[in-house]
Amino acid sequence: MATLSAYASDSVTVAATSELIGIARRAAAGRLQTGTGGNISIRVAGRNEVVIKPSGVGFAECDHDNLLVVDLDGNILKGDAKPSKDMAFHLGIYRVRDDVGGIVHVHSPWATGWAASGHALALPTVHSRDKLKRIPIVPTGPGGGAQRPEDIVAEFRDPALRAALLAEHGSVGVGKTLLAALHVAELIEETAQVAALARLLRAAPA
Ligand SMILES: [Zn+2]
Repeated sequence: MATLSAYASDSVTVAATSELIGIARRAAAGRLQTGTGGNISIRVAGRNEVVIKPSGVGFAECDHDNLLVVDLDGNILKGDAKPSKDMAFHLGIYRVRDDVGGIVHVHSPWATGWAASGHALALPTVHSRDKLKRIPIVPTGPGGGAQRPEDIVAEFRDPALRAALLAEHGSVGVGKTLLAALHVAELIEETAQVAALARLLRAAPA
């Protein structure tokens, strides 16, 4: 049974919602996510509450009237849309990482290509090594389906981890703010493209 929060429509939550809408639209404009896939969420400042995109809503269509406000146990405080299956791992990460204020999960093509290749994503640039350090790959779930939330959360128990690839699925970036999480998702995508080009060009005759 959902508990109605007295805060779900106040200015702090509205500000978090506005921030999510802006970042989601930037991710869509940058082609990090098409259609209604992926997910994005933001922790409401100072509270154990999260604004999150529900199932069936595209990043580009996120708006004040179609997002969910939930507590960290998944109880819906505001909104009537169907929660995404991804919500379990988003909330799990917030529960184990007090430092995380935003999460971006996308199926961006270069990162997902590496995640489907069976190869670890190389970090061929000084910036990717400096900022991402390591990117574990979470294996597919039972029957080759989507990852089990607990397997994703287990990786993010490492307080230094900023990014993970989900095998045959996509990427997850976290940050102190949602903008920082988007920057991670953008850097993973850029790095995945550069890594593929570097591998191709190294194999070419000089
Ligand atoms: Zn996904």
